[in-house]
Amino acid sequence: MMPLLDLQALNAPMQAEIEAALLRVARSGRYVLGPEVEAFEAEWAAYCGVKHCVGTGNAMEALEIILRAYGIGPGDEVIVPSNTYIATWLAVTHAGATPVPVEPDEYTYNIDPDRVASAMTPRTRAILAVHLYGRCAEMGQLRRFVCDNLFLIEDAAQAHGATDETGAKAGSLGHAAAFSFYPSKNLGALGDGGAITTNDGHLAKVARRLRNYGGVGRVDHTIKGINSRLDEIQAAVLRAKLPHLDAMNAGRRARARAYCDALGLVRIGDGGHVYHQFVIRSGHREELRKRLFDRHGIEAHVHYPVPPHLEGAYTDLGYGYSMATAHPRPSFPIAERLADEVLSLPIGNDVDTYGIGKTVQYEIEALQEEFA
Ligand SMILES: *Cc1c(COP(=O)(O)O)cnc(C)c1O
Repeated sequence: MMPLLDLQALNAPMQAEIEAALLRVARSGRYVLGPEVEAFEAEWAAYCGVKHCVGTGNAMEALEIILRAYGIGPGDEVIVPSNTYIATWLAVTHAGATPVPVEPDEYTYNIDPDRVASAMTPRTRAILAVHLYGRCAEMGQLRRFVCDNLFLIEDAAQAHGATDETGAKAGSLGHAAAFSFYPSKNLGALGDGGAITTNDGHLAKVARRLRNYGGVGRVDHTIKGINSRLDEIQAAVLRAKLPHLDAMNAGRRARARAYCDALGLVRIGDGGHVYHQFVIRSGHREELRKRLFDRHGIEAHVHYPVPPHLEGAYTDLGYGYSMATAHPRPSFPIAERLADEVLSLPIGNDVDTYGIGKTVQYEIEALQEEFA
């Protein structure tokens, strides 16, 4: 049995450092927003190449805090990819603004800069780009849209250590970025965690208040904040794992290369990709997924089977299937097609991706013959 991701195996090489970190915090008497968080914030800012990092409870709230800190709320629109995890959209909604979907490029899976202009309105206040699966979005092209009242924000939840074509790191490519340290991410804690990175000192200051009820410490509540704090335990674990991040990402890249070799795929311009997921597409996706599991014990997952505009939570926006005969608003056929075809293969450490890739290739060819 080959699971999509084995977290125990992922953390095993760092087990001693992780346990030392846990013990250090358990004995310290400081458990929330203490010296471990402060140290991690400095280390993560340095790693990403930015001036400031603000720890949060998770990435969704980190995004909400960024939007609110920039004064984005009711009546405002934020451009988001039509193909992302629903948390990206929910952050916009929780800030009080409206997510405006834009379709991705089918090759990179990231928001297509050429489609952004036609989604802009006088209410557009931000572009929220997602570095999906670990590949940086086309931030250079998205920067063209930035002006006094329009911010470029990164959802970097899947892109720890990813770089753009200039070598700059995810987290430093827009006005501000949100990271998730959910256990399965490229840098994962032993529970929930998140962070904001930015070079904007004012934003960092406001974000520090917003994550802690709007105050500094327990006093001086100048704004209505939320509770989204990073625990000392999670910060200490992240500090233990951070020195290993580049090696872990290099391992993912090597395993992705082996997949491409086995599957006969050409890799173009993916030097900075950190392969949070290794994703293929198949017109017979469900049958392929079932056969890989039933015949070979290979567990493949779908990220994500339903695009946010078709989720029940967003029926209020009034979007419909692009194939439906009558729908009141534009729909998103590329996101819908990707949701039907994408399949994530195991990429964890010690996985023989060349061997799995050969098996996948065999089943793909068998399916093509059967359905020919
Ligand atoms: C995981 C993830 C999130 C949410 O992160 P949390 O820390 O669980 O809130 C948001 N966006 C993307 C693209 C993600 O992969």
